[in-house]
Amino acid sequence: MTIEGTDSSQESFDIAIVGAGFSGLYMLYKARKQGLAARVFEAGPSVGGTWYWNRYPGARVDVESHEYSYSFDAELEETWDWSERYAAQPELLRYLNHVADRYDLRRDISFETRVTAAAFDEAAHRWLITTDKGGRISARYCVMATGCLSVPKQIDIPGADTFKGEVYNTSSWPMEKVDFRGKRVGIIGTGSSAVQTITEIAPEVGSLHVFQRTPPYSIPAHNGPANPDVVRDWRANREAYRAAERENPIGIVAAVQSDRMALDTPPDERRRAYEERWARGGFAIGGVFADMLMVKEANDTFVAFVADKVREIVKDPATAELLIPKTYPAGSKRICVDTGYFQVYNRDNVTLVDISKSPVTVTPKGVRAGEREYEFDALIFALGFDAMTGALSKIDIRGRGGVTLKETWADGPRTYLGLMVAGFPNLFLVTGPGSPSVLSNMVVSIEQHVDWISDCIAALGERQMDAIEATPQAEEYWVAHVNEVANMTLYPQANSWYVGANVPGKPRVFMPYPGGVGVYRQICNDVVAKGYEGFAMSSSARP
Ligand SMILES: Cc1cc2nc3c(=O)[nH]c(=O)nc-3n(C[C@H](O)[C@H](O)[C@H](O)COP(=O)(O)OP(=O)(O)OC[C@H]3O[C@@H](n4cnc5c(N)ncnc54)[C@H](O)[C@@H]3O)c2cc1C
Repeated sequence: MTIEGTDSSQESFDIAIVGAGFSGLYMLYKARKQGLAARVFEAGPSVGGTWYWNRYPGARVDVESHEYSYSFDAELEETWDWSERYAAQPELLRYLNHVADRYDLRRDISFETRVTAAAFDEAAHRWLITTDKGGRISARYCVMATGCLSVPKQIDIPGADTFKGEVYNTSSWPMEKVDFRGKRVGIIGTGSSAVQTITEIAPEVGSLHVFQRTPPYSIPAHNGPANPDVVRDWRANREAYRAAERENPIGIVAAVQSDRMALDTPPDERRRAYEERWARGGFAIGGVFADMLMVKEANDTFVAFVADKVREIVKDPATAELLIPKTYPAGSKRICVDTGYFQVYNRDNVTLVDISKSPVTVTPKGVRAGEREYEFDALIFALGFDAMTGALSKIDIRGRGGVTLKETWADGPRTYLGLMVAGFPNLFLVTGPGSPSVLSNMVVSIEQHVDWISDCIAALGERQMDAIEATPQAEEYWVAHVNEVANMTLYPQANSWYVGANVPGKPRVFMPYPGGVGVYRQICNDVVAKGYEGFAMSSSARP
């Protein structure tokens, strides 16, 4: 589409959306519904985002499938059956393709098109967007649906490019199945993707060496085929469950939040509570006690419980000790949800190598750790992501006065509500830093943000305005609030990707909002009820 008076080589839309994962697809659906001319730009060749790129063995969601799915259309929910309690990546990708087909979304998506720059035209109140295909796009609104975990961390291990065998990265796994049968395999990293990969390939490989710097807290998923009773119950009470999800601190009904305090609960009762949630599996553990992520001594009671579990499962006492996290509070790094992770270390072909004290180097033959060189046929890097800001920092985004987002965020990301940045009008972030995002069931948070953005654009139209931006004061207040809430919790105590600690040189700032999904939603709704408090609206027709 082109509009009169513009450069004819320049396409023009009401709204440009960057990314075609859960966020971008839903944003496109909503934009169309409200009659906006919309275009999505996606670097990958198809829809799916996270679930397109992360196809490593064992990749699966860690929130129960019926909760980790769109809620905006009851018919979509009723006509889609999940085969497992926790869907694996191929099924999640099928689901997102099904969504794209069902709402005929593909015709408005430019695939294999990476957005490289976006600059705000202050006179016209429009974003001028550039792509790696030479495209130039003008759009009133620009929505960054670029994902919190979409840019893998650069491999910073010395010698990484010297290895002569097969090399794999969990975040860009080959399309075809990799045959590890009989091979000597090494894997570096023990975060969520590594835990899933290790568990899946251990029975197949000749030998597996796991290089661990920091052990993760991992909770059993108890995965299996979808339980027909659970499905029936969810469908019968869908609206009530979805409403509860939106109010739950982490957006997961199964993580029922208790208001009991671990420290006020007698030890045997406390242990029963942990056992009960451990038996339920997954993030049910999240809400077990209200003080778990607030008070170190309360957290310690859970840490001790997990340590006992690991010692029960892992037969070799020395390996068990290495697998027990000791340097950070439980939950202050993302908890893994596994399908027999600790059990893997009882296999004769699996060896855990502690690299907490002596860093590793990669050699042409394998990996050197301490004094020893381990030789491999294949090496897997599972090093995590440049989380929350990685994708945005790769785009040359310029707001008022040509100021770049990079400069603006030099000391760490600053936003109002995780939705907008002062000085960058009409630029919306989906699950941006300063919103619950990665501390939640992300589909719940994505829907809330997209709904908010869509309502905001409608409100601008009603007021005959064509620009909205966060005020510097509101942003200042919100950044301080996020920090204040984070400092009331144990989160900042870990060197986690929540604070950017995994990426050398990244400013240490706690990025997600830990106040809870329900609380945050209420804050966003109140801002709207008060006439978009903290935002300034303007019109290009009335400068
Ligand atoms: C392995 C893994 C497992 C996860 N498991 C869970 C889970 O169990 N529960 C949960 O709640 N969350 C999970 N997450 C988080 C997950 O990212 C979100 O749940 C959700 O999929 C995010 O959707 P999104 O559309 O916001 O971002 P993404 O799915 O990351 O999509 C962003 C898209 O934007 C594209 N893009 C980025 N930059 C550009 C650019 N400049 N130009 C064009 N395109 C661009 C990317 O190619 C990508 O396709 C997981 C993440 C990973 C990596």
